[in-house]
Amino acid sequence: MLILVINSGSSSLKYQLREVAADGTEPAEPVVAQGLVERIGVPGSGVDNHAEALEQIDAELEQVLQGRTIDAAGHRVVHGGERFKAPTLVTMEVIRAIERLAPLAPLHNPAAAQGLRAIAEKWPDMPQAVVFDTSFHQSMPEEAWRYALPDALYTENGIRRYGFHGTSHDLVTGIAAETLGIQRAEFNAVILHLGNGASATAIRGGASVDTSMGYTPLAGLVMGTRSGDVDPSIITHLIRNGAYDAEQMDRMLNKESGLLGMTGNADMRQVIDSAHAGHRRSRTALKVASYRLAKYVGGYHVAVGGAQAVVFTAGIGENSAPFRSAVLDRLEPLGIAYDAEANLERSEAARVISTEDSAIPVLVVPTNEEMAIAQLTLTVAQDHGALER
Ligand code: ADP
Repeated sequence: MLILVINSGSSSLKYQLREVAADGTEPAEPVVAQGLVERIGVPGSGVDNHAEALEQIDAELEQVLQGRTIDAAGHRVVHGGERFKAPTLVTMEVIRAIERLAPLAPLHNPAAAQGLRAIAEKWPDMPQAVVFDTSFHQSMPEEAWRYALPDALYTENGIRRYGFHGTSHDLVTGIAAETLGIQRAEFNAVILHLGNGASATAIRGGASVDTSMGYTPLAGLVMGTRSGDVDPSIITHLIRNGAYDAEQMDRMLNKESGLLGMTGNADMRQVIDSAHAGHRRSRTALKVASYRLAKYVGGYHVAVGGAQAVVFTAGIGENSAPFRSAVLDRLEPLGIAYDAEANLERSEAARVISTEDSAIPVLVVPTNEEMAIAQLTLTVAQDHGALER
């Protein structure tokens, strides 16, 4: 079967066409086609909206398909609010619900809804599923998702921790449990998704019980361009004294902070190279980022009642041995010890990098959100009888 995986950003549309058998198994080369339409809605780009972007993709796919039809589409949607606790088959009502959640993700949800509508109009008979970044974290207990703010901010405005990167945390949890030979339902772990955006998740019994991102993906760890946790009074102080208005503040915290703000470089590779070359600002940024992450691991070890594994994933987590060691060196008080050689090995496979006598294993597990979305789409469509098993 052919599943089209779509990731609609505010001004971009990424896609992958994937081959998957009805029982979920994949061929050796599952990606049949992939591409990206950028600068949607930017004057002069020639692509006014997501429907036009889809026309462009359709033209690209026609050559690849050679008469085959796409069996289903799966969309990554950033925000599912409290309503969507699992991947869902798309109906018009579901699209409207995603639009109604726009106040929670003003750039992303309207774009996703546009993509959904465009496909529903173009291929009305094709089943579509939505997979939310937030839904895996709907299992968090209230003490983890409530902020200590006036009650009405939650009850009237939905201000609470939602968490993101759920598809990746979910996938990686399953693979880590399997790698260790532990039943998922009995698996406690700390998962570290470290890409341009980064988040840590506390896993208890295979489910999310806490996560470092919050109401938005700005909270928590030091990221490529995002600050992660800061004292909120810094924001009121800077706005009050006129240094920033709300827009500028939003841009500073999301786009001009993190590694970029501290060093001039958002890319972890460059920050590490520059730290090795002795540049003080890069060394400081690595210390701040690894220290903050280690504190989260310590906290989540408690949150899950004793983790059975620490798991690294995504661009930095999978590839940066120096950053992993900077974090792992700080975890020695938990009895964690890693094998320096195993840490340096490069591989596409899930692997253990801790020593035999480490108190708990440390794993590196490659994530693949597109693959996960294709699999979830297949399952949702089959569960509703929209695709054959
Ligand atoms: P996204 O959140 O955009 O999906 P990725 O998961 O692709 O991001 O991660 C991007 C990050 O991974 C960048 O900071 C990049 O520097 C980092 N990265 C990729 N390869 C390496 C590497 N070999 N060493 C260090 N960092 C790496």
